[in-house]
Amino acid sequence: MTQEHREQGNITIHTENIFPIIKKWLYSEKEIFLRELVSNAVDAIHKLQHINVVEGLQLSNEYAVDISVDPAAGTLTIKDNGIGMTADEVRKYINQVAFSSAEEFVERFKDLKDKNQIIGHFGLGFYSSFMVSAKVEIFSRSYLPEAGGVHWSCEGSTSYTLGEHDKADRGTEVVLHLDQDEREFLDPVRLREILKRYCNFLPVPIRLAGDVVNDQSPLWTATAGEVEEGQYREFYKKLYPWTDDPLFWIHLNVDYPFNLKGILYFPKLTTEFDVAKSHIKLFCNQVFVTDNCPELIPEFLNPLQGCLDAPDLPLNVSRSYLQNEPQVRKIREVITSRVAGKIVDLAKKDRAAFGPIWENIHTFVKYGMMRDDKFGDKLKEQVLFNSTGAERLTTLPEYLERAKDQHANKVFYATNEAAQGTYLKLFAKQGLEVLILDSLIDNHFIQYLEMKNPEVHFQRVDADLTENLIEEKIKIQLPGSDENQANASRLKEIFEKTLHVGQLSVRVERLKDDSVPAIILLAEQTRRLQEMTRMLGKGEENLFGEHTLLVNATSPAVANILSLQQAGRDDDCRMLIEQVYDLALLSHRPFDKERMEEFLARSNRLLAKLGSSN
Ligand code: ADP
Repeated sequence: MTQEHREQGNITIHTENIFPIIKKWLYSEKEIFLRELVSNAVDAIHKLQHINVVEGLQLSNEYAVDISVDPAAGTLTIKDNGIGMTADEVRKYINQVAFSSAEEFVERFKDLKDKNQIIGHFGLGFYSSFMVSAKVEIFSRSYLPEAGGVHWSCEGSTSYTLGEHDKADRGTEVVLHLDQDEREFLDPVRLREILKRYCNFLPVPIRLAGDVVNDQSPLWTATAGEVEEGQYREFYKKLYPWTDDPLFWIHLNVDYPFNLKGILYFPKLTTEFDVAKSHIKLFCNQVFVTDNCPELIPEFLNPLQGCLDAPDLPLNVSRSYLQNEPQVRKIREVITSRVAGKIVDLAKKDRAAFGPIWENIHTFVKYGMMRDDKFGDKLKEQVLFNSTGAERLTTLPEYLERAKDQHANKVFYATNEAAQGTYLKLFAKQGLEVLILDSLIDNHFIQYLEMKNPEVHFQRVDADLTENLIEEKIKIQLPGSDENQANASRLKEIFEKTLHVGQLSVRVERLKDDSVPAIILLAEQTRRLQEMTRMLGKGEENLFGEHTLLVNATSPAVANILSLQQAGRDDDCRMLIEQVYDLALLSHRPFDKERMEEFLARSNRLLAKLGSSN
């Protein structure tokens, strides 16, 4: 029944080299042969479906791809009921087309050191089956009524046999006689895992030993307007079981100027989440390609998860090529712009509901704004800040509008609510609203905002220009302004003499809140510079550099200092001054061991003094 004959006609001279290369090729990802064969099977079904419609044939519509194993024979079979091939087509498509495309592929990439550089490894096609097989057979029967069955067989060299076969049903069966050390591909668990990875969303039922393993219409193929919220969440759970609900999602359905479908999710971030890598699964017509294609999204959107289906992308090209591919750049732009749009929508729709989302995403948004001007422009009105004002969340334009009569174009901020609590209390007493900019990125983001809004100045609550805190010129609770003046200069003198710290200047003022004996003021620009040097690891640990001690003349503690000095109790006076200075410093940074010990010892001495008369 099988009539064998050899054909060696059109195979080029280089092809002798193909098989050894194919065998070694993609050593770590041999499993992709299954994706290639199943994709071919699905293509064959699509072709038949197309002809069915165009030519009005009344063919079976129970299309499926069946995968089965015969452990005894050591074979793995991929069977479809698609278009099938005639003997001529096998000659043309398998012997010539497949061979030459495999050869071209190998030629192009054989010198590449990192095989993973080729995204998805598309293009090796049918011949990738030789990566795992000692022998491959094709049994096929074309849909054409006059065609009979054919049998092709090849043992991994340039010679093959092609003959007739009494195959009864339409379609193609590819039988792999697995290499001795590739028996893992007989294991149904392993096969299922591979099919789940690469074929999970193929549009035709894929059956493994009779069970359908795939979801034929993944949610991204649906029309955005027709999908309900719950379905998006459900799809997310399918992709990422054991994770929290996503924060928001974007359904892409782009037809022009290129095709792009997909659903991207912004996850709830946990500490385990690796934001250093990309998490998008890339598909090509529902065939999984890779989940490692960082070129598709800008780095600041790394947390995005989900699926992108980009049927027009050249998938077997190298990473470096992709980086410069205009279409990839356009995809990145579309995604960036859609993410920005989504965030703007969410922020405008319901700020209270957006608050927790913002908590999760703000670092990425701020970073993105600094990296990408278009993204920044879209979002600049929507960036939210925590505030000490009536509304916990505010935008910068809103803050400036409220502040415009009191301190136009000046933004007061705190970087640590606890440590800067004293200042915040003083500001609150003055009815001044303060923004809380307490995350790592905010330092840089402030600079960015000032660059973008040159008329606006950010000033930390402990900055040197705290006119707003000072009620009026110095006035101590003693009669006679000359005396007040004299007391003020005396205080300044004894503080300076007692502390004799380099780069410290003492100012005596009257603060609105008399419970605060003194606060430290740091010039905004000097402080920022120091923070920067410290971040670069160059600053000295325990020094402030230039700083001002603002002594609050109305505070009872300061009045005490003055009376002790007048009474000639110099030691006690010194102790109080040092204590007041240390307390002011503590709002700024923790003490080192030595200073802490000294501070505690002095505190204890002061406690012991309480109640005693001298
Ligand atoms: P590609 O799929 O990229 O064209 P392949 O080497 O995988 O390259 O396949 C070469 C050709 O062989 C296909 O284009 C198709 O015409 C034919 N072919 C492969 N598998 C099948 C199949 N299961 N049914 C019908 N034709 C097939």
